[in-house]
Amino acid sequence: MLEIRNLHARIAEDGTEIIRGLDLTVKAGEIAAIMGPNGSGKSTLSYILAGREDYEVTEGDIIYNGESVLEMDPAERAAAGIFLAFQYPMEIPGVATMQFLKVAMNEQRKARGEPELTTPDFIRLVKEAAGSLEISMEMLKRPLNVGFSGGEKKRAEILQMKLLEPKLCVLDETDSGLDIDALKIVADGVNALRSPDRATVVITHYQRLLEYIVPDSVHVLSKGRIVKSGDKALALELEANGYANIISEAA
Ligand code: ADP
Ligand code: MG
Ligand code: MG
Repeated sequence: MLEIRNLHARIAEDGTEIIRGLDLTVKAGEIAAIMGPNGSGKSTLSYILAGREDYEVTEGDIIYNGESVLEMDPAERAAAGIFLAFQYPMEIPGVATMQFLKVAMNEQRKARGEPELTTPDFIRLVKEAAGSLEISMEMLKRPLNVGFSGGEKKRAEILQMKLLEPKLCVLDETDSGLDIDALKIVADGVNALRSPDRATVVITHYQRLLEYIVPDSVHVLSKGRIVKSGDKALALELEANGYANIISEAA
């Protein structure tokens, strides 16, 4: 479903190379975890997958469902089923969360050739999804992410993901700033989306999240490359021995 081949990418503004020959394959039905120290390029990778224009791919390719996405803009990638849950979700004053969700869902439906949701259907779908994430209707009336706590922002990201039903989900440090109860709620939301025709990339600094979202593969990112891959035991090894040991060993 996702094949990243020898990806090199730099910051458009100043030309600094951040991603330096990254290879990664994630099959449909799989959950891949990417772990790495601060500054290794995890968020940059997620932005590049989503198509953010602050970065330039200089070499290599990103193949999604058999086709390169490099020429697709962020909206086209979203329409094709790529979803990114941000490490730092953006606040959007003036746009009620409900309104945002309705527009996003209808855009997605339009891209799939499906009719617009009726208001009762929309409300029902949102209520169901929000309930399981312990998000109140009152919160959904507020502007998106404005004044939300860290945990509420992360839950709102998962709500969007549930409602949009993407094919490739990328979660960038969704666990950061979550207490254990919120972590479980978020993990349940991700696990509920597990399906044979969906792939998920979970980016995390800590092993803890992977106790709840059990990955099929774990990849260690260092200085813009995957330096080691393994199964979930690798996450435990990272936790026990630290990144520095594993990275110098791999080098
Ligand atoms: P991680 O998510 O693994 O902590 P990031 O992808 O956020 O790492 O950052 C990787 C490196 O690239 C860091 O050194 C960061 O400062 C730098 N970087 C990323 N994006 C930019 C940018 N737009 N401008 C300047 N530096 C950036
Ligand atoms: Mg970071
Ligand atoms: Mg990051």
